Amino acid sequence: MNKECWVSRVAILWAVVRGQRYSSRLAVVLCLAVSGIISPATASSADQSESLQLLGREISPGTISKFPFIPDRSFEASYLNMPVFVARGVTPGPTLCLTAGIHGDELNGVEIVRRAFAKVDPQELRGTVIALPTINAEGVRSGSRYLSDRRDLNRAFPGGTGGSVARLIAHAIFTRVLNHCDALLDFHTASNQRANLPQIRADFTDPAIRDLAVHFGLGIVVNGAGPDGSLRRESAKAGIPAIIYEAGEPFRFQELEIDRGVLGIENVMAYLDMTEMADQETPSARIYEHSKWIRTDRGHGGFFFPTASLGDMVNTGDLLGEIVDPLTDASVEVTSTLAGEIIGMAVPQPVLSGYALFHLAWHDPD
Ligand SMILES: [Zn+2]
Repeated sequence: MNKECWVSRVAILWAVVRGQRYSSRLAVVLCLAVSGIISPATASSADQSESLQLLGREISPGTISKFPFIPDRSFEASYLNMPVFVARGVTPGPTLCLTAGIHGDELNGVEIVRRAFAKVDPQELRGTVIALPTINAEGVRSGSRYLSDRRDLNRAFPGGTGGSVARLIAHAIFTRVLNHCDALLDFHTASNQRANLPQIRADFTDPAIRDLAVHFGLGIVVNGAGPDGSLRRESAKAGIPAIIYEAGEPFRFQELEIDRGVLGIENVMAYLDMTEMADQETPSARIYEHSKWIRTDRGHGGFFFPTASLGDMVNTGDLLGEIVDPLTDASVEVTSTLAGEIIGMAVPQPVLSGYALFHLAWHDPD
């Protein structure tokens, strides 16, 4: 990976200028470099002022590049291709990676990454931004959450050289693109027929990930490592701090959710000292260690009508909505079984027993 190369030089600067932030992984790598475990030849092989070699291309300092990446050949050459955007700064710094559309129906992140990347000026940038705005391009094109083999690309990482096409694609992305990343931001929305309050999800057991999450500046961070095979979990296991941004509904662009995502990317770039917005205070965040779905009671499926909204703080016993039995016209109240903030919820629709209605998050008492 290129990360070892710049870290040995930049970590010292960061340690002085930026205190202990983002320091745990850097410190380990720095120690390895100093002790010779990472060889001097490796540590000096990727001078930021030099061109970046990525996917068989040479990306010069101070330039923007956009080109297709075909992770695997299919019956037509273009079938699986995805766009890659690269901004190579003129000044040394980390490589921030942005991914969206891993679930092809989740579109807010696609537009977030497009807008954020369009604002990057490589002449002012310290480091490199690599963006995969439609990492599951096939799904985005067809409006599908999944790949054509019905696999979830976000359960296939880090992939492999055999097995399903999802594993093959994941492996190509992981070994040829993500191996360049020093931090990763992955963008999602709620799944079909649900909406999410803008939130960050991150594994608090890793201090570097926790710092990344807090400095996104959104105000709500939910703890969790993510499922096995998910991009962020496997990236973190590979030593790349990774978080996801969850906001809004699938199948549409939503301005508020997009604006907050673009601002978050700018906040992270400032935190990583990639831009001049470096004097920001650490934003305060509501950090939730726990979350749980409140579901339709068994035997009480029907037509769901919420009365509570995203962002509401609720207590045990509070009314959240009602479910009407369309045959008897009887109505059943949906009440909260715990106290917390509503960070996700179903939209009004027919629901069956057990359907996930409200996603509540809460933190441990102080
Ligand atoms: Zn998703």
